[in-house]
Parts: sequence; C-alpha cells; structure tokens
Amino acid sequence: MQLVSVRRLLRQKVIIAGMRRTHPRFSGDLMNNIVEFRNVSRIYKVGDHEQKALDRVDLSLQSGRMIVILGPSGAGKSTLLNLLGGLDSPTSGTITVDGQDISKLSGDELARYRASKVGFVFQSYNLIPTLTVRENVALVSEISKDHLDPDKMLSDVGLSDHGRKFPSELSGGEQQRVSIARALAKNPQILLCDEPTGALDYHTSKDILDLIDRVNRKYGNTVLMVTHNEALSAMADRVVRLRDGGIISDERNRERKSVMDIEW
Ligand code: ADP
Repeated sequence: MQLVSVRRLLRQKVIIAGMRRTHPRFSGDLMNNIVEFRNVSRIYKVGDHEQKALDRVDLSLQSGRMIVILGPSGAGKSTLLNLLGGLDSPTSGTITVDGQDISKLSGDELARYRASKVGFVFQSYNLIPTLTVRENVALVSEISKDHLDPDKMLSDVGLSDHGRKFPSELSGGEQQRVSIARALAKNPQILLCDEPTGALDYHTSKDILDLIDRVNRKYGNTVLMVTHNEALSAMADRVVRLRDGGIISDERNRERKSVMDIEW
C-alpha cells in the first residue's frame, strides 16, 4: 500500500475515534455498553402460580441508539422497560446502566437513578392538570441536577407559544409533546417510550414518532421504544422481538428509515 493512502487511512481512524469520544451515538462502540442485562428474570407470584414476565434475558445496548421493542401483548415488553427505568427490580440477574448495577438498589437509590438517568414517555401523557405546560416541564429541574432549560425544551418540541396553557387546553398530540419535553428536560441518558402513540391518530402519531427520531439524533439519548406496530421496526437502529418473556430475535438495521417514509 502506498504511504499516502496509509496516512489517509490513519487520519480517518483518528477522526472516527474522535467522533466516537465526543458524540454519544458513537460512544458505545469504543466504550462499554450503556445497558447490560445479564440473565435477568422477573417472576410474579400469582397465588400458587409463578408468572415469568422476563425469563433469563441477556441484552447489551450501545449508547445513543434507537431500539424498537416488538412483541405481542404479555410478551414482557413493559416489564423490560420498567426494570430499565428503575420502576421495578429483577427477581434475579443483574442490570448495569452506565457502569452502575441497578438491580439491587434501595427505593431511595432507585429514585435518584430515575431522576438522573431516565426519561419516560407513556401512552397516557401523565401531565399534572393543575400546572401549566411550562410548569410541567420545569418540574423536573427540582429533581434533576443536570436539567436542561424548560423553555428550550418546549421550543424543541414546537410548543414555545403554549407554555402558559393548561394540559386540558391542548390536543392529545400536543400533550404528548409536552411529556417528551418533560422527559428530555432531565437530560437523561436513556429515554423510555412505552407505546407513545397508542392514543393518537395516524398523522399525529407520525409527527410524534418523527419528533422522537429527531431528539434521538440531536441529544444522542439511547431510546427504547415499545410498540405493537411492526412497521416501526424500519425507524430503528436495532429491533428486539420478545415473546413469553424471552428475546426471540435481535436485528440491526443498516439504515434508519425516516418516519415520514414509513406507512402502516
Ligand atoms: P407486555 O408489555 O409485552 O404486554 P408485560 O411486561 O406487561 O407484557 O407482562 C408480561 C407478563 O407478566 C404477562 O403475562 C403479564 O400478565 C405478567 N405481569 C405483568 N405485570 C404483572 C404483575 N404486576 N403481576 C402479575 N403478573 C404480571
């Protein structure tokens, strides 16, 4: 190989390594995975019966990726999200997030973990009806040290002019935008979305999914999105399918499709 092309190759490697250090979307490639599930089970006791909501799951996730979780009802999708979100703890196994084992944390420690590391977006927007839109978003600044500016977040979701309104004065799509702004205002490393468009019509769903796609690219949060909608696998970097508490497939997409180009 000629010296000049060896030099060019080396320079490219240095540039890519630099990007990986500075841009969260790349950090998982060089550093540790942000999320590691090792042999994780969550078993519910219902009378004499044991319900295995998750059954010995192993899963490693790289930072900054968009991961879509698919599976039929009862497959264990919400259980997986709740465990990663620190809303629940596994019966056995370990869950490591950004180097911290969260599987055996106390209630207070889990609350601190939730406040600093994860943002939640649910199908029901869970806004506080007696607070204005801005107050709903600003609320997280009281629990999160590294919070972002609420007005900037409202601007990012296209609601700068709605800050003084109450949630009841907004459409469903607008309320979901507020809940996304609220989740992002914590500046979370992980954004968990559980059927975020379950209550929305087709076009509003597309707008919300497009927004989630754009915030993932802009802020580099690792996004896990649970959905029933197979078509949404095309917008992901990675598609994990669950059934009966186990992972039945785990695929990486070479390219992410724009939400606006996906039909269902
Ligand atoms: P999905 O989100 O894929 O619909 P879930 O994670 O909600 O699935 O549930 C997985 C399984 O665990 C289901 O069989 C469900 O009935 C059971 N399960 C979930 N939560 C509880 C609970 N609190 N008590 C008993 N069983 C539960």
